[in-house]
Amino acid sequence: MKKDLFKKFASVAAISSMFVMLAGCNSSLLNETEVEGAERPIIVQGPMPIEAEEFAKKLDKVKVEKSGTFVFYKGKINNYPVIVAKTGKGMENSAAATALAIEKYKPIAIINQGTSGGHNPELNVFDIVLGERTTNIGSLKTTNMDEGQGMDPTTWIPMDLMASEGSGSDDSANKVRYYEGDQELLEAANAVKDTYTKGKVVEGTIGSADFWNSEVDRINWIHEKYGTDVEEMEGASVAQIADAYDVPFLGIRILSNNKTNGGTYNPGTAAANQDYVYEVVKEYISMIKNK
Ligand code: SAH
Repeated sequence: MKKDLFKKFASVAAISSMFVMLAGCNSSLLNETEVEGAERPIIVQGPMPIEAEEFAKKLDKVKVEKSGTFVFYKGKINNYPVIVAKTGKGMENSAAATALAIEKYKPIAIINQGTSGGHNPELNVFDIVLGERTTNIGSLKTTNMDEGQGMDPTTWIPMDLMASEGSGSDDSANKVRYYEGDQELLEAANAVKDTYTKGKVVEGTIGSADFWNSEVDRINWIHEKYGTDVEEMEGASVAQIADAYDVPFLGIRILSNNKTNGGTYNPGTAAANQDYVYEVVKEYISMIKNK
């Protein structure tokens, strides 16, 4: 009797340990396929509330996550994961929000979008620039001048901080560094160009720095030196970090003002840009799904 009970117990134990093993095996398989099959989100960044919240409203099933001052709206578009990031203004905020989002969410692509000021007199308020190139226009070396010799910003030399790991006296750093917009994101953006009716959509150069230029001679100097079409305060820092992690990046900037042709500031442009970027994201999602 006792022997039978022991046998029964032994076989039950054996069977259940088999189940435990199988279950363990199953769950590790499941985890692997979950990770492998998981869709990597598209990140859409906007610096100011008016540049991010409109887009966040377009997401389905939104969950809000905060980290420091950065707000991430995690949701879906056409059942594909999209995260809207409200980064805050300026180069530091946007770089930090980008590095954080890359580590946290492993995005498939990053779009940095929002308002900008025109450097190209042929572009009007409500026109949109797709960042074929993005560059840091605030990274500069001055020439040598002694006390009493004054200062002359027109002689300043663009400085490429990524040229080497060495000191700033390195001449190879005396150049502009451009970050190229991702070809597939550009393709998606160009494919839906005609859906935008409030202005033109053109490819161009976006310049970024923590300053707001309203001196037309200075704007013209930057426009000639860097070939910029617009200026804003975030794109180049995002491009630099996206490049460091090899994540596809595109800047999409609407002109909210253009001092070179008298275009006065219109905050309504922020929402118009988000409407267009929404079309771009849907197009990019269909490109991913058809791959
Ligand atoms: N108007 C505010 C500054 C806002 S910062 C003030 O004067 O206090 C400007 C924000 O809008 C940044 O996020 C930047 O990316 C964008 N922007 C729009 N037009 C710009 C311009 N002409 N120069 C620099 N940034 C501009």
